[in-house]
Amino acid sequence: MKRIAYATIFLKPEGQTLSPLEIEQNREWVKHLIQRMGLEQKQVHEAPMGFDLEVDVNSPAFSLLLEAIRARPDLAPRYISIWRYYTPSELEAAPLLIWRLTNQAIEDDYYDLHKDGYQGGPQASHRRCPACRAELEQVRDLMVNARKMGKRDLSLTYSFEIILSPRLAHWLQEAKFTGFTLRPVWHYTRPHEGEPPLYQLVVTHTLPPMASPPTQFEEVKHCAECGTTTRYLKHTHYWGEIRYYEETDVYYTPEVLENAQDFNRTAELFGDLPNGHPLVLISQRVYRFLREHKVKGWEVVPVYEVRKGE
Ligand SMILES: [Zn+2]
Repeated sequence: MKRIAYATIFLKPEGQTLSPLEIEQNREWVKHLIQRMGLEQKQVHEAPMGFDLEVDVNSPAFSLLLEAIRARPDLAPRYISIWRYYTPSELEAAPLLIWRLTNQAIEDDYYDLHKDGYQGGPQASHRRCPACRAELEQVRDLMVNARKMGKRDLSLTYSFEIILSPRLAHWLQEAKFTGFTLRPVWHYTRPHEGEPPLYQLVVTHTLPPMASPPTQFEEVKHCAECGTTTRYLKHTHYWGEIRYYEETDVYYTPEVLENAQDFNRTAELFGDLPNGHPLVLISQRVYRFLREHKVKGWEVVPVYEVRKGE
């Protein structure tokens, strides 16, 4: 696994006015830092506000960056995020993979967006909690502007519903994958006419809760009215005073992993109330299948097995 930090070094403190000379001096200081860090050109992007840097966390350059932030807190990044990049063998060794769709091309249900649906009116696609607005149950097929899908095989709606092209829906059924069902998705001007132009992937198999610890969460929210709980995987960390963001790992017990299906949804909902949604975890079979069929618009993150007592 590679851990790459993304951070912007600024040329002036937030909300302050500096003279052109002072800004120029800061620019020279940052350029000197970049030179000392030995960064390649592709790791540095000069922007009007400062310099965007990409730094390998396991490189000496990263220690220099932390030192520099301590030395010049006035120019410090306001947000440091670390992204993890996995090798093919790490992904192939995982007992299950978190499936992350990278397209969010489809707007939500047309009537939820444009009519009275979002307020929970009679046309709404979901029954919602009257107190927190969380979606409790889908009560009809989604109706979207199907043209927004273009030639994609896979997309999320803005509410994280998974939308499939008819050919991908057909492939998944033909491969006899377990843990899911398909629901028609209609173009909003022609509901229930002929063959559906798209399908919704409804993951039906829900895993037991994650093993926690070692899985860590933060920002847990709960609605007493409907019992919905949402959370985030822990992603806030500190080096001394310096705060950074990095998602942490998901763990399951061996018993849970043995009983997983090809498609699985987590018991936990992630995000904020009322928009929490489960993660979708796929088997190695589905992972290979998607690669072999050259389906685009997704990435995966491994989950890990934990033994009792660890
Ligand atoms: Zn509620």
